[in-house]
Amino acid sequence: MLHAIVSDIHGNLEALESVLADIARHEPASIVCLGDFVGYGASPNECIDRLRPLIEHAVVGNHDLAACGKLKLTYFNSNAALAARWTESSLTPDNLQYLRDLPFSVRWRETLLVHASPAEPEDWHYVLSPVEAQIEMDAYQESVCFIGHSHYPGTFDRNDDHVRYTRTPEVRLEKGHRYLVNVGSVGQPRDGDPRAAYLLYDDMERVLRHIRLEYDVAGAMRRILGAGLPRFLAERLQWGE
Ligand code: ZN
Repeated sequence: MLHAIVSDIHGNLEALESVLADIARHEPASIVCLGDFVGYGASPNECIDRLRPLIEHAVVGNHDLAACGKLKLTYFNSNAALAARWTESSLTPDNLQYLRDLPFSVRWRETLLVHASPAEPEDWHYVLSPVEAQIEMDAYQESVCFIGHSHYPGTFDRNDDHVRYTRTPEVRLEKGHRYLVNVGSVGQPRDGDPRAAYLLYDDMERVLRHIRLEYDVAGAMRRILGAGLPRFLAERLQWGE
């Protein structure tokens, strides 16, 4: 069965609509979300309202916690902190409560879902190298764990103690191997490609497909500027950085 996994929407409704239209075309059995619904972008309520009825599970991201006052902003740069305060003041009480109640990790169809770090889901590590991936992969039993957080789509493939990293869009899951898969970011890609990212996962065929999609970047930028959020948060969308 085919499943869609989205992450790091960051209040970017234009990117989310493009991704949801593509997901609908594939008619997946389920959709799950790896957190960071909000933060940076200008449509936090719209993104939560749009996703909530569609997703089977979600885990919490650091920007979700920051927006509901449950994470100290000392680790955020000034733009991120400003956006978190703006998001907190914009969210409806119902959406604040929704974010507050999200779990840090979920076991789902024999895989693990977590926003940043399977080893320490509450500590927001970035997993960028095979060495870091190996440490994280020692912390879970499932053969596949899906993460977001770094906004870099890619796959760590572990065979015994050897970990390989690949950015190839299609990955066939091999028997005996274990995987740590970053699904990339819907609303704020940072790998130099401004297109929205999400992942299709076929748990019968055992195939992952990293998808990239054009969206109305100018529209998302206009909305960020219109909300009075920092200009940098709009401009970075056009570079995918
Ligand atoms: Zn994020």
